[in-house]
Amino acid sequence: MDWDEFERWGARAAEFGAAYHRGLRQRPVRPDVQPGDAADLLATAPPETGEAMEAIWSDFLSVVPDRLTHWQHPRFFAYFPANAAPVSMLAEMLASQMAPQCMLWQTSPVATEMEGVMVDWLRQALGLPNGWAGVIQDSASSATLSAVLTMRERACAWRGNREGLSGAGQLRVYASAQAHSSIDRAVWVAGIGQDNLVKLPDTGAPSFGLDVAALKAAIAADRAAGHVPAGIIAITGGTGVGAWDDLAAVGAVAEEERLYLHLDAAWAGSAMICPEVRAAMWPGVEFCDSVVFNPHKWLGAQFDCSVQFLKDPAQQIDTLKIEPEYLKTTGTGVVNYSEWTIPLGRRFRALKLWFLMRYYGLEGLRARIRNHVAWAQEACDALRAQGFEIVTEPILSLFTFRGGGDDGAQQRLVDAINADGRIYVTQGAHRGRKVVRFQVGQFDCTRDDVMLAVDVIAEISAREAGGMHNG
Ligand SMILES: *Cc1c(COP(=O)(O)O)cnc(C)c1O
Repeated sequence: MDWDEFERWGARAAEFGAAYHRGLRQRPVRPDVQPGDAADLLATAPPETGEAMEAIWSDFLSVVPDRLTHWQHPRFFAYFPANAAPVSMLAEMLASQMAPQCMLWQTSPVATEMEGVMVDWLRQALGLPNGWAGVIQDSASSATLSAVLTMRERACAWRGNREGLSGAGQLRVYASAQAHSSIDRAVWVAGIGQDNLVKLPDTGAPSFGLDVAALKAAIAADRAAGHVPAGIIAITGGTGVGAWDDLAAVGAVAEEERLYLHLDAAWAGSAMICPEVRAAMWPGVEFCDSVVFNPHKWLGAQFDCSVQFLKDPAQQIDTLKIEPEYLKTTGTGVVNYSEWTIPLGRRFRALKLWFLMRYYGLEGLRARIRNHVAWAQEACDALRAQGFEIVTEPILSLFTFRGGGDDGAQQRLVDAINADGRIYVTQGAHRGRKVVRFQVGQFDCTRDDVMLAVDVIAEISAREAGGMHNG
């Protein structure tokens, strides 16, 4: 492809993007497709000779957009959002056009330095202590794994990487049972093992936070048994119902027990740009050694973009840095972020944060989050008024509810809502009961979209109940 052709098709790609987004509300959020439908449309073998761009483009238009689940649809209320503000898409287009590989300072001077500055902008925006550093990772799962490896190495006197874990004793990690499955996977991959992830009860509504007395008791019992406590993973905004731990209380235990403390705030971290949210949910965050949050979820930085803040990056670097001859650099006083993470290769992720924060300003980003929180409360109250059982009240913009009937009826309700297509929600479980999970957070979502969701849920629930009665 020559650069004249690139220029023409690049303009077409931008036109497509604008038209796609303008038309999203007319599309079902989740496509009406069966497994295999998309693969059936693709050639079964690669072409031996090149094809014309026109043919590739027209196949793209006929195959792809109708078979996607539209994460940028304003009526996406499932999972958590993966928001891509338009300005962050532009930044990603530019980054993908220059296509640098940002593993070392010398392979990407401006990307490396911008990453340092953007992490510090976010540190200030989230009210985290002066002097903390950080790194942009692909996902919260990777950041949590990095933190668990660091707690492991610290707990076994930095010998695990060299000697393996056979002489390390039985390492133990503590978290609330509300913690995300990425924490289980991190302890698997770190060689600590599922059985040594001690899942502790929560204290119930309103925060569903970790039971700190149970945490202390578990650590004491483990020490008495000769085990080796390695660290604690706290959460701000669990996936199920939004659970958040009392960081001052958990942090005091971590300090007293000299345990590494990692915080998973993958979703809710974005809301900490609002000082009132921080004041309610984040006292004690300064106790943490590591904090992860995903600007690619609620904030609007196109996937992927996960920021891990570190009180003392040297511990993570001691855990992960490896320097064969071919990676040695001559620069002094430079940061090589690949020494802070598991993958060597790194994308230029800082650019979209720079564009995003400059275009909207923190006030613009806060306004969206405050709206989402307020609209979630309105939707919750409206559903309650219509007779739905609110199982968990909103924590930020997430709540759960049930329609009539048993667990099976809840799943049928979710499936019927999603088959209708006007909105998209997912099911969850709370205290052993199936619930419908509803979160407000898509970047372009309006109050009308949220209120339409309430109408759709009420309408389909009534239809389902009628159907059950008749059938
Ligand atoms: C989304 C989420 C994760 C996992 O995030 P990835 O970036 O997809 O790895 C972990 N914890 C919580 C609380 C989440 O919401």
